[in-house]
Amino acid sequence: MSVNIHINSPNVKYTDTHIFAKYSYESTSVQQDGSNITVTPRSTEMTFRTERQVPRLGVMLVGWGGNNGTTVTAAVLANKLGLTWRTKNGEKRANYYGSLLQSSTVCLGSGLEGEVNVPFRDLLPMVHPNNIVFDGWDISSMDLGRAMERAQVLDWSLQEQLRPYMSCLKPRPSIYIPEFIAANQESRADNVLTGTLAEQLEQIRADIRDFRQSSGVDKVIVLWTANTERFCDIVPGVNDTAKNLLAAIQAGAEVSPSTLFAVASILEGCAYINGSPQNTFVPGAVELAMQRGVFIGGDDFKSGQTKIKSVLVDFLVSAGIKPTSIVSYNHLGNNDGKNLSAPQQFRSKEISKSNVVDDMVQSNPILYKPGEKPDHCVVIKYVPYVGDSKRAMDEYTSEIMMGGLNTIALHNTCEDSLLASPIILDLVILTELCQRAPLVPSGTPVVNAYFRQRACIENIMRACLGLPPQNHMMLEHKLQ
Ligand code: NAD
Repeated sequence: MSVNIHINSPNVKYTDTHIFAKYSYESTSVQQDGSNITVTPRSTEMTFRTERQVPRLGVMLVGWGGNNGTTVTAAVLANKLGLTWRTKNGEKRANYYGSLLQSSTVCLGSGLEGEVNVPFRDLLPMVHPNNIVFDGWDISSMDLGRAMERAQVLDWSLQEQLRPYMSCLKPRPSIYIPEFIAANQESRADNVLTGTLAEQLEQIRADIRDFRQSSGVDKVIVLWTANTERFCDIVPGVNDTAKNLLAAIQAGAEVSPSTLFAVASILEGCAYINGSPQNTFVPGAVELAMQRGVFIGGDDFKSGQTKIKSVLVDFLVSAGIKPTSIVSYNHLGNNDGKNLSAPQQFRSKEISKSNVVDDMVQSNPILYKPGEKPDHCVVIKYVPYVGDSKRAMDEYTSEIMMGGLNTIALHNTCEDSLLASPIILDLVILTELCQRAPLVPSGTPVVNAYFRQRACIENIMRACLGLPPQNHMMLEHKLQ
């Protein structure tokens, strides 16, 4: 199902190349003096201009031969080819479930027959995942056919259909600096660049140019879905400014592979997305991206346990209930779990998973005193037998009325890479769209709550069409 949306408004103009939308952005400015608060409504007139021409998009994955890299590539191929396959539960058909853009809908309003919901992807002109061309790097030389088998994610009969296509895809040699990922990854590192850091950076830049030329894509986005690295220290004179970072690379100082990839992408003018928790975006990398006007984003896909946390804690705190203890256990048996079984790589993940409730807790001073937070503990264990089928167990304890306690226990089982792959697609498609529409300035508060993030994306897209934000007031029905 695909629809064409036309906006019937004097504020919206369509040309052959663009959609122009005049928009009044309603906000408030707040002044607080002790318990006296003055709120002033503000209205800012804006014009949104969205390019209608959707480019041919190329995506280069760092860690292409991993579980996520192979799964997302295979899923796009299977959708493009319209594949079906038999399992013991019957016939299955390729789909994009789990993708906000491809598989969720937005309500445009009410017609004669009630609410009209359309696919999110049809709101604005955007890339369809079936048209993305993939390429990438991996420290493991395995072709994607064999790597898909190693990942143990997709049904065998689907793998058999995909293998002829996947086997032709081979990851490019990558930058491998053993100290940044777990020592247990060494055995798969048989596809690595040599030479100085500066030479390796140049090779990655040459790879990006080569892919752009040989595939004929208009735009390249680079996304890190390689192993989680340890955090790197922010060292004045080394990675604190763009100039120092570039000089540090020339001098062969300590710079992580993920930061080298980010720098290579930025220098090639390609957006860079970080899907793992490490601090790739050292201040020097951020400054370089700003100087060059290149879009960078991320850290760490939030696909399962943390995504649920960003919904559940938001729900509890918004309902006036006080979460006091959140304990999250995971066990998984894929290569990500193996890498995370090393302490420094686990630490990167622990930090990223722990910060996710901060904004929701800080928003409610009735429940939490300044600086007060729920106890929050994250445990990850490597259990090879369960493979990519990750188990996540959570216990949320909250204070309810009059000293009562409420404990919610969750058990979640599913293939990790089948949760991450549709998110990878949403991220690259939204990044591509953001490059044809407005950017977020630095200093914007971080929002972790899932539905606030979703409402933000939906309402910005509506603004690009001159439509008011979705406010759920539904007064048109209540005032009859
Ligand atoms: P994986 O171990 O299967 O894949 C990672 C790949 O990266 C491997 O093939 C490895 O050989 C390769 N690699 C390591 N260092 C590299 C380098 N310097 N250059 C190029 N390739 C390199 O892991 P995965 O399950 O695909 O997850 C990928 C990343 O995404 C992990 O960091 C994980 O923590 C993160 N992540 C995954 C999920 C999810 O799967 N649901 C959620 C959040 C974050």
